[in-house]
Amino acid sequence: MDATRVTVWNEFVHEQESDVVAEVYPDGIHATIADALAERGFETQTATLQEPEHGLTEEVLAETDVLTWWGHAAHDEVDDEIVDRVKEHVLDGMGLLVLHSAHFSKIFRSLMGTTCGLKWREAAERERLWVIEPSHPIADGIDDCIELEEAEMYGERFDVPQPETLVFNSWFEGGEVFRSGCTYRRGAGKIFYFRPGHETYPIYHDEDIQQVLANGVEWAAPSDDPATSSGGNSDPRERIDTSDERTVH
Ligand code: ZN
Repeated sequence: MDATRVTVWNEFVHEQESDVVAEVYPDGIHATIADALAERGFETQTATLQEPEHGLTEEVLAETDVLTWWGHAAHDEVDDEIVDRVKEHVLDGMGLLVLHSAHFSKIFRSLMGTTCGLKWREAAERERLWVIEPSHPIADGIDDCIELEEAEMYGERFDVPQPETLVFNSWFEGGEVFRSGCTYRRGAGKIFYFRPGHETYPIYHDEDIQQVLANGVEWAAPSDDPATSSGGNSDPRERIDTSDERTVH
């Protein structure tokens, strides 16, 4: 089977404006994520906000199995037309990984239909991501929990629909909890929201976090699940009387 094709999207703003962030992610968060996925056998390319059509042309999306999305400071600068295009591809079966502050991205809010609001605090707190569903493929190779020494706190309530599967639940040093790994399906597309990843902490350099990203991509890759095959006018499976004048042929 051909390698899963991943497009790693990043707004790429903080890294170009802050020395602190540039030190953690010299080539951008997208480069770190793309390298980590390439090392694990995925065919990766990157795209950023600044490129024409944000790097997400019809051609790029048509050849993308899974799109990963990181954004924070520039959600409003993402063109609505591109958001609609991405959404169409998701409904059609493209996987989507929504990372950290992308909880407020236009694409995630549109797919969820809720505000996606949450509590937050930047205080370099310890985070423990507890595995809630050890048998889920996204938790493959992860122990009881992932420990992060320094993280931004995200707290409940996270205003999202009930996830299909809650894979990770976070505890923070300050006492809050948060649903950190949530899966959804929209149309034929699989969506994984994964919380860790603030720009000033080296979260995406963490091996366990990289493993979860790879697992998430693998899980979200399109499948030929017959339950998601297209609809439309359908011939009966059994012989039925179609002489009724209201029958549409
Ligand atoms: Zn953050």
